[in-house]
Amino acid sequence: MAFLDQLISNTVRADVRATGSYHVPDASGYIKLDAMENPYLLPQPLRDELGARLAGAVLNRYPPAYDTLKAAICRTLGVPAGYDVLLGNGSDELISILAMACARQGEARRAVMLAPVPGFVMVPRSAQFAGMEFVGVPLRSDFSLDMDAMLAAIAEHRPSLVFLAYPNNPTGNLFATDDIERIIAALGDTGIAVLDEAYEPFAQQSFMPRLPEFDNLVVMRTVSKLGLAGIRLGYMSAAPALLAQFEKVRPPYNVNILTQVAAEFALEHIAVLNAQADLLNSARDALAAQLAALPGVTVFASKANFLLIRVADSDEVYAKLLAHRVLVKNMSKMHAVLANCLRISVSTPEENALFYDALKASIV
Ligand code: PMP
Repeated sequence: MAFLDQLISNTVRADVRATGSYHVPDASGYIKLDAMENPYLLPQPLRDELGARLAGAVLNRYPPAYDTLKAAICRTLGVPAGYDVLLGNGSDELISILAMACARQGEARRAVMLAPVPGFVMVPRSAQFAGMEFVGVPLRSDFSLDMDAMLAAIAEHRPSLVFLAYPNNPTGNLFATDDIERIIAALGDTGIAVLDEAYEPFAQQSFMPRLPEFDNLVVMRTVSKLGLAGIRLGYMSAAPALLAQFEKVRPPYNVNILTQVAAEFALEHIAVLNAQADLLNSARDALAAQLAALPGVTVFASKANFLLIRVADSDEVYAKLLAHRVLVKNMSKMHAVLANCLRISVSTPEENALFYDALKASIV
């Protein structure tokens, strides 16, 4: 065996060797509707102002403790009084911080992370890389939580972490409030419920204000879907004593100075971003109604900035959309409940219309 092959098999864990990389397709030249980004930029005068702020950023020093940004997040984004936030390089990093903090290396039984499936792919990946066991509990066919199965799995596996995306990706729905409350209660002091509210700017429903009711709750969010996916910033909040444990696992300087400056600036102009989210919500509802009228297309209700649709043959439609230079996400192989499903980010009226025309031409 060649030296490198030998080296890798001697050093890199077998499960890592057997795993594929997180695939980011090259979208150049495509209408990019695959990653739930906000299609709108900040208005030009604000971008000019931001440019001047970034020019003043101190690049030769490590970034300072991010107290100013944390205070701005707490003030602007509805974190309850007395609660702090922990910041991550995207919420992806926060998920792996939680997994690293809760994995129990060297103990007879691995700690368990549990989540409904299908869900956000980084959740099982983070469990795996941290050395936690991942237990997925299938959603019902209407994408609601199968509460009998959830509660049975919680009783059986005693998970340290239960991840619930609220709304869920890729299904777009909000789980029922009382189901979530029952899960938090069932976990008690043996497990932490993590509500991943990445799509909160669109759903506008949140457990953040309810943190003081539940000491075993973490609420996680990101600025990615709000129009700042490029700066990579996620935040999470929890009871201060619990958050302090995760803070120990956070890599130092994980939020760089350019991100800090840009985020502070964007939060000063949060109304602009919120208005864009409102625009996307209206565009989503309009597009959903249009798509639902197409023969053979099922549109699932969404509270996020994307739509999940079912077509007769998603592989064929996906390929035809690509030929029309439209990039969406084919979810068909992710889980049986997503058979023939495509996920589409909601975009500008122009791009939504191009997508609609391309889909119409692709389903005949
Ligand atoms: N959580 C959910 C449910 C998501 O869908 C995504 C993005 N696809 C993320 C977290 C990741 O967010 P970030 O860009 O902050 O890493």
